[in-house]
Amino acid sequence: MCLKWKVLLATCLLLNLQCRVSAMEPVLIVHGGAGVVSEDRTPGKLRGVTLAARVGYQVLMANGTALEAVEQAVRSMEADRYFNAGYGSVLNVDGDVEMDASIMDGSTRATGSLSGLRDLLHPISLARDIMLHSGHNFLIGDGLRAFALDRGFRFLDPPGQLVTQYAKDSLEAWKASDQSFNSSEGGTVGAVAIDAYGNIAAATSTGGVTGKRLGRVGDTPIIGSGTYADNALGGVSLTGDGDIIMKVCLAFDVLRTAQLTGRDVQPVADELLDAMSASLGGTAGLVAVDGAGNVAVAHNSLHMSWAYQRGDTVAYGASKDDFNILPANEDPFVPLL
Ligand code: ASP
Repeated sequence: MCLKWKVLLATCLLLNLQCRVSAMEPVLIVHGGAGVVSEDRTPGKLRGVTLAARVGYQVLMANGTALEAVEQAVRSMEADRYFNAGYGSVLNVDGDVEMDASIMDGSTRATGSLSGLRDLLHPISLARDIMLHSGHNFLIGDGLRAFALDRGFRFLDPPGQLVTQYAKDSLEAWKASDQSFNSSEGGTVGAVAIDAYGNIAAATSTGGVTGKRLGRVGDTPIIGSGTYADNALGGVSLTGDGDIIMKVCLAFDVLRTAQLTGRDVQPVADELLDAMSASLGGTAGLVAVDGAGNVAVAHNSLHMSWAYQRGDTVAYGASKDDFNILPANEDPFVPLL
C-alpha cells in the first residue's frame, strides 16, 4: 500500500476511534450531605446543589475532564455557607474548623487525600494537587501545610475566617445535648462525573462532625470509604456517619458488589446502606455514576440534598422519593442573603 493510502487509512481509524470513545453522554451529580435538615435550611441546600451541578456540568460541556468537573462542583459548595465544607464547616470541640477531603481519577486510579486542614477555603483543590504533585496519596499535619505553601496555596489570614455563626450555634447546641455524633444536619459535599470519553472522577469535602475531637479523621478522605472512582466500576461519593462508614469501606463495596453481581448500583447501594445501619448503626447517603453513565442517589438518613445535570435538564431532591426536574436554564431558588 502506498504511503498516501496508509495515511488515509490511519486517519479514518483515528476518527472512528474518537467517535467511539467520545460517545458517552456526560453527567455530573452532587450531594450536599446526609442528615436531618430543618425546613428553613432546605431551600439554601437545594440552591447550592443545583448550582454546583450546573457549575460542574459546564466544565464538561467546555471539554473539561471529569476530574476538573468534580473539583469545580465541590469548590462551588465549599464557598457556600449552607454546606459543611470550606466556609461553613462544622466546628471541633475547641471551636475550630478542621477539614478532610479526597479526590480520585477513575481513568488512572490516582488519588489525593488530606485531613485536619485549617484556614483554606478550597480543600478539594489541595487534594487534587496532592494527587498530582506530592508523590503520595495522603498528607496531614505540618507536612500538609508545608506542601500547600510550596504549591502556592494561600491560607486565610487572620485564621478562623471559615467559622460561621451557624456553626458556632450548632456547637453550643451540641454541647448542651447528649453530645452524640449521629443526629446532625450533615452537609458534607461530594461530586461524581463521567465525561464524554467515559472517564469517571469522584470528590468529597467536609468539616467532619460537630464537636469532634482534635485530630479526628472521618471517612471522607479515606479512599474506598468516602470516595472511589474507577472507569471499570464507576464513581461514588459518600456522606453520613463516617466513623461507621469507614468500618465497611462503603464506597468501594457498593461499586465492587455491583460489578461482581452484575446488578445496577442503585439497588446495591440501597441494600448496603441498610445492611451497614442494621449491623453497626448510623445512617449514610451517596451519589454514584456507573461506567455506562447511569446515576444513583441513595440515603437512609432522613434527608440528603442532591442534584445532577444531564443534557438540558437538572434533577434534584432533598429527601427520600423527592424527585424534581428543571430546565437547566431555570433557577427557581431565590438568592439567599
Ligand atoms: N462523613 C462525614 C464525616 O464523618 C460527615 C458527614 O458526611 O456528615 O466526617
